[in-house]
Amino acid sequence: MIAILAGMLLPALNKARESARASSCLSNLRQIGQAEQMYAGNNDDFLTPLNLGATWGVNNDNNWWTNLLVNGGYLPPPKVWHWEPSGVVKDGVLRCPSVNDNEISASGGYALFENVAADKHPNRASYGCAPKLGRVRNASGLIQIADSYHYQYKNTSIGFLCPKCTEWTFSSTAQIPPRHRGGGNAVFLDGHVAGHPYLYWKGNSDDVFGHEVKR
Ligand SMILES: [Zn+2]
Ligand SMILES: [Zn+2]
Repeated sequence: MIAILAGMLLPALNKARESARASSCLSNLRQIGQAEQMYAGNNDDFLTPLNLGATWGVNNDNNWWTNLLVNGGYLPPPKVWHWEPSGVVKDGVLRCPSVNDNEISASGGYALFENVAADKHPNRASYGCAPKLGRVRNASGLIQIADSYHYQYKNTSIGFLCPKCTEWTFSSTAQIPPRHRGGGNAVFLDGHVAGHPYLYWKGNSDDVFGHEVKR
């Protein structure tokens, strides 16, 4: 009897818990988006690059986008750095609540949209480069930062790629994972947040990656 009841209640309880985590994640992303807008206001309208260094080889451990937001005072400093102080946090706004402690590696679960292979994306950021906020047309239709996954880095990555430029597979690509009951969350360049199913992101539905945008 008790086992049967537990069997009925546990899935409902888990579902409610994950719903709470997903809304907490959206709230984190909203704050990160506001921090990005403030950062641009103080940095000649430039959003944060993936890293201030010009390439992977000369990336500076203290200058990941997460560091820029925390060190610039745009986000409260985390209590615990995972690879102090190189961009990876374990708590606070930069930590997705649906990522377990032992899954944290290259970020707290969030990543910036980067696309090393193709520079046509108006919302693309990479090593040493980022868009100017005011130059981006359709800011409300392009994503900037989202839940992130890369197989090499357990369950987290600090950048993610366009699914139309680089196919998303679970063993190869930095992408938005189905972390929140089959979906992932993102903040757009105008600061609004949204959660969508994995296949919505993977299909570049509504061209939120700016892959089809003509400039
Ligand atoms: Zn999340
Ligand atoms: Zn693309």
